[in-house]
Amino acid sequence: MELTVKRMKQLKNLMIRARANAFDSLAATLGALQALQLRSDTCENTSALIPRCSVVEVIVSSYNRMEKVDAALLRMSDGTYGICVECGAEIGEGRLLIQPWAEHCIICQEHREVAMLGQLTQEFKAIAGKPMEAAWRV
Ligand SMILES: [Zn+2]
Repeated sequence: MELTVKRMKQLKNLMIRARANAFDSLAATLGALQALQLRSDTCENTSALIPRCSVVEVIVSSYNRMEKVDAALLRMSDGTYGICVECGAEIGEGRLLIQPWAEHCIICQEHREVAMLGQLTQEFKAIAGKPMEAAWRV
C-alpha cells in the first residue's frame, strides 16, 4: 500500500500540529518552572502549583514527541517514511493516522513492548530480591 500524496500531506500536517503542541507545552512548562523557581530535589517538597514529577514528565514527553516528529519528517523527505526502521515492512496507514511519527510496524512495536516489559520485570526482581510472582502474593 503506497501512501497517496494527499495522505502524506495530511500526516505531515498532523505531525506539524503535534510538534507545535509539544513545543507549546515545553515552553509553558519551562516558563512555569522558571516562575516558581523550584529548588527542591523531591516530589513532595515543592510548590503545590506544579509537582516537580509532572513537570519533568511534561518536559521529557514533549521533548521526545518533538524528536520523534522531527525524525519522521526527515524520513518523509528522504523517502523512507511509513517503513519500519527495524524490519523494513510498511507501517499500516491506520497506525500512521493515529501516530504519524511511528517508526516501527505494529509487530516490531509489540516485540519492543514485550521486551521492555521483560526488562522491567527483571529490574523489579532485582530490586525486590525475590520473584515478582511471590511479591504479588504478599
Ligand atoms: Zn517492523
